[in-house]
Amino acid sequence: MEMCFSGRRALVTGAGKGIGRATALALARCGAEVTAVTRTRADLDSLVLECPSIRPVCVDLADWDATDAALRDDVIGPIDLLVNNAACATLQPFLEVTPEEFDKAFNVNVKAVLHVSQLVARGMKTRGRGGAIVNLSSQASQRALQDHTVYCATKGALDMLTRVMALELGEHQIRVNSVNPTVVMTEMGRLGWRDPDKARTMTSRIPLGRFAEVEDVVNSVLFLLSDKSSMTSGVTLPVDGGFLAC
Ligand code: NDP
Repeated sequence: MEMCFSGRRALVTGAGKGIGRATALALARCGAEVTAVTRTRADLDSLVLECPSIRPVCVDLADWDATDAALRDDVIGPIDLLVNNAACATLQPFLEVTPEEFDKAFNVNVKAVLHVSQLVARGMKTRGRGGAIVNLSSQASQRALQDHTVYCATKGALDMLTRVMALELGEHQIRVNSVNPTVVMTEMGRLGWRDPDKARTMTSRIPLGRFAEVEDVVNSVLFLLSDKSSMTSGVTLPVDGGFLAC
């Protein structure tokens, strides 16, 4: 399916690495004007070298005030498409979860999604031309995974945030959906699943028998951003080879 985003303005968070970076590049290839947001300057420099049309914004999304200053509508201009992709993950057994890790993960994985979406959706509402938002959730929002207490909790919260945003923003023709991938071997994926024995415990529960590729996730994000999904809002779309169905 050909996707065309010419004339559309997209903002992708966590665009320095992994899925976010590939999403930003794919959107630019499909004609969108892309603003790429992340916190490591070197990642933005290499992204702009790879695709000079991309506009870089360097900010730590865990910092509410800095995010406000960097991403206000009057600073970044109109946005039609938002991908809330930035997230962090730290593995800790339940009994060893620390308040610091809890706050860090909820700050980035949930609170920053709410905040960036508020900033962007206010502009969408004012302009009255609608928009589309995709949140990067996970299979971990719906299944308990060993040592993933906080990560699972943030993604469960994110799925519910997606639904309430879909409910409240629908009247402004703003669609809000999430994609919920299985493991993808990015930097984050390697953190939990690089050990082959551990990886097998997961792939053996996936009917298609493999992890997802970055491209599998990007294709679903682009579909949910595009007019091809114009009647779809409030869904959590698994990109998991059937894991959540079993
Ligand atoms: P990566 O860790 O590879 O990339 C995450 C990106 O987000 C990095 O560029 C990182 O920047 C950025 N980021 C993290 N924290 C912040 C912050 N506070 N402010 C600004 N930018 C930040 O992750 P993936 O590409 O693997 O994951 C992308 C999304 O997909 C996440 O939401 C993740 O939860 C989800 N997902 C991933 C899966 C996987 O197995 N990989 C499976 C299911 C879902 P920096 O490096 O500078 O911190």
